[in-house]
Amino acid sequence: MTLKLHDTLARKKRDFEPADLERVTLYVCGPTVYNNAHIGNARPPVVFDTLFRLLRRIYGADHVVYARNITDVDDKIIAASEKTGKSCAEIAEIYTDIYRRDMRALNVIDPSMEPTATGHMPEMIGMIRQLKKSGFAYESKKHVLFDINKYEAYGKLSRRDRDAMVAGARVEVAPYKRDPADFVLWKPAKEGEPSWSSQWGDGRPGWHLECSAMIEANLGETIDIHGGGADLVFPHHENELAQSACAHGGSPLARYWMHNGFLNIESEKMSKSLGNVMLVSDLLDEWPGEVMRWALLSAHYRQPLDWTRDLLEQSRSSVDRAYQALRKLEGVEPAAGVTAEGVTQALEDDLNTPKAFAEVARLINAANKARTDADKAEAKARLIDAGDQLGILQSAPEEWFKGADDTGEGLSAEEIEAQIEARKQARANRDFAEADRIRDALADQGVVLEDGADGTIWRREA
Ligand code: AMP
Ligand code: ZN
Repeated sequence: MTLKLHDTLARKKRDFEPADLERVTLYVCGPTVYNNAHIGNARPPVVFDTLFRLLRRIYGADHVVYARNITDVDDKIIAASEKTGKSCAEIAEIYTDIYRRDMRALNVIDPSMEPTATGHMPEMIGMIRQLKKSGFAYESKKHVLFDINKYEAYGKLSRRDRDAMVAGARVEVAPYKRDPADFVLWKPAKEGEPSWSSQWGDGRPGWHLECSAMIEANLGETIDIHGGGADLVFPHHENELAQSACAHGGSPLARYWMHNGFLNIESEKMSKSLGNVMLVSDLLDEWPGEVMRWALLSAHYRQPLDWTRDLLEQSRSSVDRAYQALRKLEGVEPAAGVTAEGVTQALEDDLNTPKAFAEVARLINAANKARTDADKAEAKARLIDAGDQLGILQSAPEEWFKGADDTGEGLSAEEIEAQIEARKQARANRDFAEADRIRDALADQGVVLEDGADGTIWRREA
């Protein structure tokens, strides 16, 4: 099957064909590093990590270049610096480290590169110069602005008409602009702010320009796929698209544009004012990263995702079931060359993760039912491969279920399983009082049981 991706610009799914089979390029707008990432911020990196894994599988790991940038100069970083007395560089370093740690906990593979805005000042200044030289930008009151009226296709990505653009909360009307929808390429620095010298005075680049320049410097003028959250379509990506095309004689910035939907908390928008912002680092104290990843991928990436306690509980149960199936196959050598094609096919259909997880459920079933050595070897190979494609099942089953028992004082896995077997016998004998006693006794020791169609699974509560 060919990979199909939904392209925001074309408003439809298109067959994906990279420009160069030996160098498939993907760029995703990364974090502004001024505070801890919240769970909404984790959706783009997890979604595009799943795409990265798929592209590597199709084209070969050495033939895919994925850049996810770090925005390390920004008003919010400056505000955090003023508040804490730490330098902007220190703030950026602290939160970049936290971001990397959080993403790794969600089994996000490190991208091929993480370009930083501050590491690309000459390239950014060069691009602004180019835009000025070719008449797409103008200087006004120490600012350099992009003249949107010079670019006919402006607004094509977001399909906004002019009035909607200007009325949109994110377009700033300012006296130095020819048109209120013109956007800043370079702005003057205020006293004490980080700044770089340029022919337009000391200042710093506009956010949109940063990505265009980092893409050009690291991946080239035209990339295969540009991704990000749906909120970035306008103005961020509309502006990236315009300035890159104009700086490159009309060459498109990206051949495919992909955007993920938003994540809500218990059906409400996540916001500071509602007090429901959930940080990845706090959630990781309570939930394993793989459970969170499963939950993040449970909805199709273009749909909204409702983040609820229920979703996390269900995801934990699903991950447990997958590990339980693998645990039963401990000691079985996975069959060579067998892959989870059903999962690949689902992902090739515009990253249809709900369908991929339905396939995982089928594979779990098949693993539980496997009786012959050959069936077991095949089932195990498929389940492990499905895990690699989706970025789950990356621990050994024993590790997974060992959970919180680092003390060595609790019941051993064998003792727990013996108790579960005794409970099963008691139930078969209709001695429900005894069965309940065993369950309660295990619960007293911090071991929780969950009954399902394919048997009872257990885990230690933290
Ligand atoms: P921000 O820090 O708001 O610039 O967001 C960084 C990234 O996270 C962007 O790609 C946003 O699209 C994405 N993002 C922010 N909030 C959410 C959310 N609630 N759901 C999904 N993505 C989000
Ligand atoms: Zn960007």
